[in-house]
Amino acid sequence: TYKELSRPKQDEKATEQPRTNDLVARPGPPTIVEGIEGCIGNTPLLRIKSLSDETGCEILAKAEFLNGAGQSSKDRVALSMIEIAEEQGILTPHSGDTIYEGTSGSTGISLATLARAKGYLAHICMPSDQAIEKSNLLLKLGAIVDRVPPAPIVEKDNFVNRARALAKTHTASSGLPTASTPPSAEEKADLPEPDESMTRGRGFFADQFENEANWRAHYEGTGPELYAQCGGRLDAFVAGAGTGGTISGVARFLKPLLPKLTVVLADPQGSGLFNRVLYGVMFDLKEREGTRRRRQVDTIVEGIGINRVTANFEAGKELVDDAVRVTDAQALAMARWLVEKDGIFIGSSSAVNCIAAVKTARKLGPGHRIVTVLSDSGSRHLSRFWAKAGDVGGAVDTRLEDVVNA
Ligand code: PMP
Repeated sequence: TYKELSRPKQDEKATEQPRTNDLVARPGPPTIVEGIEGCIGNTPLLRIKSLSDETGCEILAKAEFLNGAGQSSKDRVALSMIEIAEEQGILTPHSGDTIYEGTSGSTGISLATLARAKGYLAHICMPSDQAIEKSNLLLKLGAIVDRVPPAPIVEKDNFVNRARALAKTHTASSGLPTASTPPSAEEKADLPEPDESMTRGRGFFADQFENEANWRAHYEGTGPELYAQCGGRLDAFVAGAGTGGTISGVARFLKPLLPKLTVVLADPQGSGLFNRVLYGVMFDLKEREGTRRRRQVDTIVEGIGINRVTANFEAGKELVDDAVRVTDAQALAMARWLVEKDGIFIGSSSAVNCIAAVKTARKLGPGHRIVTVLSDSGSRHLSRFWAKAGDVGGAVDTRLEDVVNA
């Protein structure tokens, strides 16, 4: 390995350099990749040492923050949605087409990055309570950004509904055929005013919640990668659901190969999924809170926790065996712990996943291998989640029990 080749052996002089040929011959990443798209996927599976040592289980995490376009798991999804739309002739690179999306941020950042690489315009709608660095980054990428007040999915000004409506306005004003259904005469009256960008190219609503290119990206990428990285041996897979794409895609790939695998939903406080689990009706949310007026999800955690069964959650919900509810206090404590003990600086949804992974380890008992996901980095969450978590001090002596029971 690289380590063996480049480190001088004990009896060698420390000044001795490894031979050039040894370094050239060391196994490395695939040679040259084609553009920024080539930096997506094949992320490392990281053994979290502190959590593994403390639980007696092997706690492994897919380092999705190392995806190279938007630095989150959403790179896989954005690329998959764009490529499928291109195959279907809905999007044509460098043609002035605009990609519309409703997103808590990560998907928008991945789409906006890939839009630049492929010659599209990105128009991103996101709730105004999400961390400001995400919308600042989107603006730097040249995306059009609408920060809309948080509103339930049944309301017209909800961020997802706004993105869909804008795509329809674009369709109506450009006159070009597209996969977005053209608006009816009644709908037209209700649509936002077109802006200048909407006279060029087609408008495409990416629709990460309902677009099944999402779970397929994890079925074809994340799942097979982690199966291979684990040599086919893992006992549990733990993940949150924002659209449900990750948990559904990975579970659909792994369960047929590993029938004994436990799939665990990590759910933040305030999420409708978990509340229903509490009532004993696993994920039967179709009739549900859709009609109630309230905030989407009441938590400081960004990106996960949903109040309805999306197409992407539906695709795998039968494969979910268990759910763990995680409070904001636990997520904040875990985020600090991972910096203090392991130097791993992650965002809020990853912290939720790690709490649920530890709880799953405790439930299964020592000797099991539990795999989870580190969806994005803490740098996307400085102004909100990490502002609450505070700075990590010098010598810290936190106990895992206090983190898990925070
Ligand atoms: N973490 C973050 C930071 C996210 O943005 C999302 C998706 N919105 C998720 C986790 C959840 O992934 P999925 O949509 O695949 O359920």
